[in-house]
Amino acid sequence: MLNEAWKRRLINIAHSGSGKESQLKTRMEFPKTVLGQKIYQSKTMTNTFPWLHKIKGKVLQDEILAGHTSIQIGGPADVLIFPKDIRDIQTILKNKDKTPIYILGEGTNLLVKDRGIRGIIISLKDCFKEIKRPLFFNKVQGARRAVIKAGAGTKMSYLAKHAARYSLTGIEHLVGIPGSLGGAIIMNAGAEGTEIGSVVRSITLINWDGKIEVLKRENLSFEYRKTVFPNTSGIIIESEIELEEGDRPTILGTMDRHLSRRSQTQPLTIPNSGSIFKNPKGDAAGKIIESIGLKGFSIGNAGVSIRHANFIVNKGGATAKDVTKLIKHIQKEVKEKTGVDLQTEIVIVGD
Ligand SMILES: Cc1cc2nc3c(=O)[nH]c(=O)nc-3n(C[C@H](O)[C@H](O)[C@H](O)COP(=O)(O)OP(=O)(O)OC[C@H]3O[C@@H](n4cnc5c(N)ncnc54)[C@H](O)[C@@H]3O)c2cc1C
Repeated sequence: MLNEAWKRRLINIAHSGSGKESQLKTRMEFPKTVLGQKIYQSKTMTNTFPWLHKIKGKVLQDEILAGHTSIQIGGPADVLIFPKDIRDIQTILKNKDKTPIYILGEGTNLLVKDRGIRGIIISLKDCFKEIKRPLFFNKVQGARRAVIKAGAGTKMSYLAKHAARYSLTGIEHLVGIPGSLGGAIIMNAGAEGTEIGSVVRSITLINWDGKIEVLKRENLSFEYRKTVFPNTSGIIIESEIELEEGDRPTILGTMDRHLSRRSQTQPLTIPNSGSIFKNPKGDAAGKIIESIGLKGFSIGNAGVSIRHANFIVNKGGATAKDVTKLIKHIQKEVKEKTGVDLQTEIVIVGD
């Protein structure tokens, strides 16, 4: 007898195809129903994207995105591309025509729906990971400062440790954020009063026409968990971070304390996508959810974490539908019992 998690996995695979690396050839027909569920099989993409062979990076068709998100949920991507370099991205943008594009960082703030994402998904997991050595300069007043140039695919934890190695302070509180620099900039990720936006000096992006643009700090504005771009958007490929020289043992001590606090208060060993809701002004979403007794409450295989009520965990085989139902339930209960409107922080994408 198949357990629920395996049933869902089979259904997902049948919806999407093999989930294996593309051979760029027509697949066999799948049956119309699997385990009693109607299957929406996507067609082979070979004819739709005849230019895929030009991509130097990895190309996966009908790839289940659950394997690319930290909560381990998500249906298939029509095409998932891991570009090797800027040229690959420009090839995609030149040939995409009207096909929608979606950018995936480390997938740590995402809920991808069960039928997946249509169009082309670009993952920066394998590229733009270079971090330059800091360039120090003196200010008329105060401590020496330095600029670090880093690729958007760099992990935040790695960038924070790199800065600490050069005694640079400003992002030590961001060491526990599991995403990429690009994702952190889009989300204006932050912890314990520090936000990435406060140290960004410039951002380099490839706009949707394939042109490279450099945006200076003064062109950007940073809001709670959101960076606002001026009349442009695209794929962030690099950023300059400006930090101040500090005391290395103090910076390392702060990082250690911060990481150990996280491991005690967050469900780091169970798949999740970080904080589900934004904190209302002057309050904490987790505290409110806990106060109305929803810690541990589950729908399907998605549950409110026992450790931290602002985290939803995938207890094994949870679907995006379970998570979205749970989100709606929490919002409704919180509104009824406290009058607070909780807004989602996670990005929900797909069909
Ligand atoms: C255990 C855990 C703890 C967390 N703690 C925190 C925390 O303390 N503070 C906090 O703010 N967040 C936290 N998060 C959430 C998450 O890690 C951050 O929001 C992170 O910055 C997202 O980065 P990512 O690379 O995973 O982005 P993704 O989740 O892959 O994407 C997020 C958004 O950014 C876009 N995007 C990603 N990269 C690019 C790019 N290069 N160019 C253009 N668009 C891009 C995506 O399209 C999407 O809209 C936590 C998550 C987990 C799982």
